[in-house]
Amino acid sequence: MRRFHHGPAEPVGPAHTRLGDRLLARGLSSALARPAAQQPRWPDPERASAVVELLHRAEPIVAPHETARLSDRLASVARGEAFLLQGGDCAETFADNTGPHLRANLRVLLQMAGALADAAGLPVVKVARMAGQYAKPRSNAMDELGLPVYRGDIVNSPEPTVAARTPDPHRMLRAHTHAARAMDLVRTLCAGGVVEPHRNLVCSLPVGARHAGQESCAMDGGGATLPTEVYVSHEMLLLDYERAGLWVDTSGPEPRLSSGLAHFLWIGERTRQLDGAHIALAELLSNPIGLKIGPGVTPEQAVDYVRRLDPQGTPGRLTLVSRMGHGRVRDALPPIVEKVTASGHQVIWQCDPMHGNTRTSSSGYKTRHFDHVVDEIAGFFEVHRQLGTHPGGIHVEVTGEDVTECLGGPSDIAEADLPARYRTACDPRLNAEQSVEVAFSVAQMLRGQRARTIQERSR
Ligand code: PEP
Ligand code: MN
Repeated sequence: MRRFHHGPAEPVGPAHTRLGDRLLARGLSSALARPAAQQPRWPDPERASAVVELLHRAEPIVAPHETARLSDRLASVARGEAFLLQGGDCAETFADNTGPHLRANLRVLLQMAGALADAAGLPVVKVARMAGQYAKPRSNAMDELGLPVYRGDIVNSPEPTVAARTPDPHRMLRAHTHAARAMDLVRTLCAGGVVEPHRNLVCSLPVGARHAGQESCAMDGGGATLPTEVYVSHEMLLLDYERAGLWVDTSGPEPRLSSGLAHFLWIGERTRQLDGAHIALAELLSNPIGLKIGPGVTPEQAVDYVRRLDPQGTPGRLTLVSRMGHGRVRDALPPIVEKVTASGHQVIWQCDPMHGNTRTSSSGYKTRHFDHVVDEIAGFFEVHRQLGTHPGGIHVEVTGEDVTECLGGPSDIAEADLPARYRTACDPRLNAEQSVEVAFSVAQMLRGQRARTIQERSR
């Protein structure tokens, strides 16, 4: 991987490098010339350009060999040989970029992975929403006070004043520094097994105790100090940040652009316009890509996306993340899966059971019910069972902290409980106990599905 010369200045290096970079730069400028949804309007565009220039000189956050290894892992998910668990905060914040918070979130992700791996006998690929999940798409440009809406810590600040909400490009530099720091911690914690995913977690939680008879508590065993592999991801939303973090991946037959900002990037439901800049940029990248699809996507559009984002037919290059809502998944997903499967592309089917199930509580809190989350995943598994396809993974908003943001679950959080510890900067997350309970439910679904597959194969 080498630095990408994106600017107007004459690139340096051998002639073929200069030519290659010019071609990549041309592709990039034509992608970025397309309409881009959900971008902030920087009050001083020149300052924003100066920040992009500075960011362009920063070191990458992820290493290319790690991203390549994730691509291999995802190929095995696409082939039905592994399961993809992705999760973390809806919106990371600078204030919460602390050891305790990151450790708690990693821990819950590893606990969930442990439960899933034990039940399914399948490797679980772990991808955190971490080290860069700072930009948020919003339904309205203004809030109810008439102020510009909060778009994530990388753009502005949530306090309800004009000054705080004015987009500040300097925040992109802070985001990069925070992301690098978070990634360092992820590496340290995962290398030494410092996260202690097993011993003090599942079995110390009430929910763990209730599942004590199951293999999950085998997690109490020797795994605690083993190194573990966790990849990082965020929504590829803020294009000034994303374009500043591009490198040239020279490992394949042709040089490609590669994001040095995360191993895995996804495109959200609000920025997936087929003629828009986000899809066009994702086409240029060698990183594995996710695409969120809601019930508005037609099977034909799904195939258009797959052809654009997986032109070479690489298993696992594209993850289609369905977020249909628990009431729609059983009807909306099957025609999409059928049509994409018939196209011959081996995508990963991943269920986001959060974003189609958001509602407002009577007291005005944005929330989700635990039962709806589990029901959407159950519907997702049913669809794949009927069609003979692999329910490849889940994508969830979770935290290891004891928040009260989602309703229901083992402690049966009620609407009246929400204010006690409602701390999210954006969407409601499952707390540690709810997350582990979801993992146990999914583990059971996976176990059932594996048993059927093995049975069918032996017939
Ligand atoms: C998200 O993942 O936080 C998000 C905004 O999702 P979606 O694009 O599916 O609404
Ligand atoms: Mn969210």
